[in-house]
Amino acid sequence: MIEFKQVHKQYPNGLVALKDINLSIDQGEYIAIIGLSGAGKSTLLRCINRMHDISEGTLTVEGIEISKLKGRGIRQLRRKIGMIFQSFNLVTRISVIKNVLVAFVPEMPFWRKTLGIFTEDEKRRALMSLDKVGILDKAYVRVDQLSGGQQQRVALARTLAQNPGIILADEPVASLDPVTANQVMEDFRRINEEMNMTVIINIHHVELALAYATRVIGIRAGEVVYDGPSQEVNDQV
Ligand code: ADP
Ligand code: ADP
Repeated sequence: MIEFKQVHKQYPNGLVALKDINLSIDQGEYIAIIGLSGAGKSTLLRCINRMHDISEGTLTVEGIEISKLKGRGIRQLRRKIGMIFQSFNLVTRISVIKNVLVAFVPEMPFWRKTLGIFTEDEKRRALMSLDKVGILDKAYVRVDQLSGGQQQRVALARTLAQNPGIILADEPVASLDPVTANQVMEDFRRINEEMNMTVIINIHHVELALAYATRVIGIRAGEVVYDGPSQEVNDQV
């Protein structure tokens, strides 16, 4: 459902960040992309939701060649793809549930957007997402009262509320302590299994990648140097 064919990405300053990437990713996979800082992991993820444009080759998502998409098509693509960042991107001064409800804003009619009114159904869906990541009891707590791990779960709940088929996570556990990082990786696994969402995570902790993901893709200097089941990874990467 995500297919890279001979994809190259060169930044405007001339730096080639991706070289001849060929990958085929199926619905429901849990993939860890590993590699050193600067290897091209972040660039690769950002090409999938058109935060970056590829320079050569073809990149298709659910059969659609995404470089051909324009404004509306790009918005539809991004609705299908949830993106999670290391820095959570939450509004910390407001409650957890309000942060999750933000997921519904793009689809709301203008008058509800301006008044900030949410339906009972939207509230129910937001609470369900919080329940999925085990922080339902924090729904009415302000985000700045939560630990880093709990905040990452709020970000994950917001993404789930959007009901995407694909979740891309750029170093989601990099700023977390080891215990919390394991819990967040476990959350991703549960979501992957129970909701059949495709999960692709950039991570530089090789042990965590091997422990949770089912497939590992190793990137070095913009090239795929390993691609296979996590059980079979050795020191090739
Ligand atoms: P990773 O996520 O593995 O750390 P990145 O994808 O962020 O790697 O970066 C890959 C390479 O592309 C690095 O050399 C980085 O400096 C470079 N790079 C990233 N973003 C840009 C940009 N906007 N313009 C130019 N070079 C960039
Ligand atoms: P990340 O945590 O995603 O790896 P970075 O600190 O590498 O972020 O980069 C932060 C921002 O700077 C990103 O938007 C990235 O695209 C851009 N960037 C990274 N490297 C370069 C570079 N060599 N030249 C220009 N922009 C860059």
